[in-house]
Amino acid sequence: MQALRNLPKIDKFITHEAFQTLSPSLITHIAQQQIKALREKILAKEIETFSEEDLVNSVLNAYHTLLSPSLKPLINATGVILHTNMGRSLIDPRILENASKVICNYSNLEYNQDKGCRGERYEHVSKHLTALLGVEDVLVVNNNASAVFLVLNTFAKGKEAVVSRGELVEIGGSFRIPEVMSQSGAVLHEVGATNKTKASDYANAINDNTALLMKVHRSNFTIEGFSSETAYGDIQALAQKHGLIDYYDLGSGYIPELPYNLSSVELPIAKVLEDNPALISFSGDKLFGSVQAGIITGRKELINKLKKNQLLRMLRVDKVTLSILEESIKAYLEQRYDLIPTLKLLFTDIEELRSRAEAMRQSIGAARCEVIETVTFMGGGTLPNREFPTIALHLHGKATKLERAFRQRDIIGRIDRDRFLIDLRALEARHEPAIITVAKELLV
Ligand SMILES: *Cc1c(COP(=O)(O)O)cnc(C)c1O
Repeated sequence: MQALRNLPKIDKFITHEAFQTLSPSLITHIAQQQIKALREKILAKEIETFSEEDLVNSVLNAYHTLLSPSLKPLINATGVILHTNMGRSLIDPRILENASKVICNYSNLEYNQDKGCRGERYEHVSKHLTALLGVEDVLVVNNNASAVFLVLNTFAKGKEAVVSRGELVEIGGSFRIPEVMSQSGAVLHEVGATNKTKASDYANAINDNTALLMKVHRSNFTIEGFSSETAYGDIQALAQKHGLIDYYDLGSGYIPELPYNLSSVELPIAKVLEDNPALISFSGDKLFGSVQAGIITGRKELINKLKKNQLLRMLRVDKVTLSILEESIKAYLEQRYDLIPTLKLLFTDIEELRSRAEAMRQSIGAARCEVIETVTFMGGGTLPNREFPTIALHLHGKATKLERAFRQRDIIGRIDRDRFLIDLRALEARHEPAIITVAKELLV
């Protein structure tokens, strides 16, 4: 067992000059693990010899792998603006810079400066949000999933919540309305059929144990053909008549009318509010275009009850979320849509995309690619099956090979009918040079 005797002593091994500038404690930890693994392999007769040089390199590799960043930026050339897997809404650097003044300093997060005593964390954004939406009160929680959970737990625990069979959705990442309901303690009372639910279905379901009539936005699917749903206004009127709470899980809420007639499928928040809902909730990082959050708005007395639920402590947002959200809402109040990248990308004129694509094509080489007009989707559980126009560069070559090569260089494109596309819809102009460089490298 010569090999066993040759195993280095840890104290001496870590003084190797290759490790000189590295963290001694981390090197020791990794070296110990690797020497131990080597010893086991020798004892199991899997190997007979080893070289110290290989061991040094292997420790170095493990060290650098561990310290390389896990979260890193990617370039989104898929055309999908709200790409959930790539982080949903972008935050404008100017928004982040303003917010950083709060994040990087002590603040009045829960400090009432006038009175010199404890203040209210939730007052900060509610002031701006109530002004923006014209609602009585708001509450912000960790995400919209938390919002749904908190509303159901507060108002329908041990009681029935009535929902249409056509709205028992599953959002990506296994958020399912029926499961969330049962976790919250609410009893799901399904009504209607998959394709049709009438106001009378809701009415017939109401009994002594009913607490809430709920509508859930079909965020990621549509029902075509022989189908109809009950308008929220009718559900609201029914709830009011019976002294129940009505609640609309909008999924995604947004402020201005959307281009390409997209607002006809999913209403802006202001339109939903015309029905005078008791409670609505939506995500902060879908079409609203800000940070991950769940925004609940509605009647003050109901929001107050939500604030008293002990669960809120588990779902509460921190200063990072609140300060970024506050900056986004201020941008809305001033109609500075240029500070909301999600909207800026969606509103970018098709001719502007086309001229940017043409310029990219000239840089890459006109023979290697062509500019095409095609369609894309919003993504992120919004505007399901609604396509709208976009411009893409079709890079010539084997699509799967190009897709992989670009992906390995942090650029995520898309394949459409065996063509590899760089879609400009979700692409910021500052990322174009990186794409041009990679395209020149890869295309012959
Ligand atoms: C997206 C969505 C949710 C979950 O929102 P998150 O902010 O991702 O937690 C809940 N309900 C509906 C209808 C949605 O579309």
